[in-house]
Amino acid sequence: MLAILHPNTALDSEAYRQTMEYLENLPGVSIRVHEIQGASQRLTEIYLLGDTKSLEKAEIEALPAVERAIRISEDYRILGRHKDDQRQSGFTYNGVEFSQNNLNIFAGLCAVDVPEHVEMMLQALEDNGEVCTRMGAYKPRTNPYSFQGHGKGCLPWVFEKAGKHGTKVIAMEITHESHIEEIDTCLEKLGRPTGVMLQVGTRNTQNFELLKAIGRQSTYPVLLKRGFGITLNESLNAAEYLASEGNANVIFCLRGMKTEAGLPHRNMVDFAHVPAVKRLTRMPVCVDPSHSVGSRDQSPDGILDVMHATAQGVIAGANMVLVDFHPKPEKALVDGPQALLMSELPAYLKDIRLCHETWKKRQAIYQRLRETTAE
Ligand code: PEP
Ligand code: MN
Repeated sequence: MLAILHPNTALDSEAYRQTMEYLENLPGVSIRVHEIQGASQRLTEIYLLGDTKSLEKAEIEALPAVERAIRISEDYRILGRHKDDQRQSGFTYNGVEFSQNNLNIFAGLCAVDVPEHVEMMLQALEDNGEVCTRMGAYKPRTNPYSFQGHGKGCLPWVFEKAGKHGTKVIAMEITHESHIEEIDTCLEKLGRPTGVMLQVGTRNTQNFELLKAIGRQSTYPVLLKRGFGITLNESLNAAEYLASEGNANVIFCLRGMKTEAGLPHRNMVDFAHVPAVKRLTRMPVCVDPSHSVGSRDQSPDGILDVMHATAQGVIAGANMVLVDFHPKPEKALVDGPQALLMSELPAYLKDIRLCHETWKKRQAIYQRLRETTAE
């Protein structure tokens, strides 16, 4: 059971005290309090866990601080969609809105290499009005002798450049909880010129201690990649780990599944799951066409497979695109062969916008259908 308190309920109010006293004394029930800071108001949600079957919704709704109660199912308690659950999806971070209804594009370098390339990338994004990017500083690599990123050494100049070009959010993978502090310390020292979305890579989807550490902080939102060899349910439960520790600002990223059946793509493209994840949870959904397709192969229609895959995800309602670009892919230290070129950026953005608009028109078609059949 979930009790949602009246907006802006003061934690030192009598209504709050009475409500908590009642809830804390329910036999066999433990409670977890979540604070959600929206743009204009603060919401407090209280999760009642354990023996809640015998509780009546009306009994909880009668408490002075409670606005409404929702009976939640076992799966994805915080991030999931439950019956009669009208709660909003998404969040705003550093002035950028993330929801199940809009779209943000994170084009950037798979891995930070030299300042010149970062500069070229950020300049191109600024020229095209984009305020988000991806920049890998900590790279998990299959081969221990491969380049594993510049780590904290590159953070100051990457963040400074991002600030200079008006970049609001950088998706940056972390592979160890100590990286949170490295990023935070650096941003703080520089006066927070940009924001960071902490990315959990597919190799770490079920690294539960890392998830718990990231979930314990709520300064930075999280981009959780789907595990490449586990079920969707297992990956969604991994996202719930973050929320259960206190951070529900989570975006779920589809990036393909590892199987020979996916060939000739690097991974089996799984973007048909975009609407499924949106139906099961309230998380905005991201697609990563670069790590799914993994090449610059092109179909006879003159469109790269990466672009086709992007279109498939966006037309199905994806809310974020995470995609590898590089000004000189032959010089990239990681994943050069799958990178798109700077010259391709404007057309690619146009293609994505077209697909997002088309998704909205598709919704309108079926909305009309529902209205006419209901008449
Ligand atoms: C990445 O986005 O740089 C990455 C390593 O992706 P994944 O974790 O999906 O392999
Ligand atoms: Mn990569």
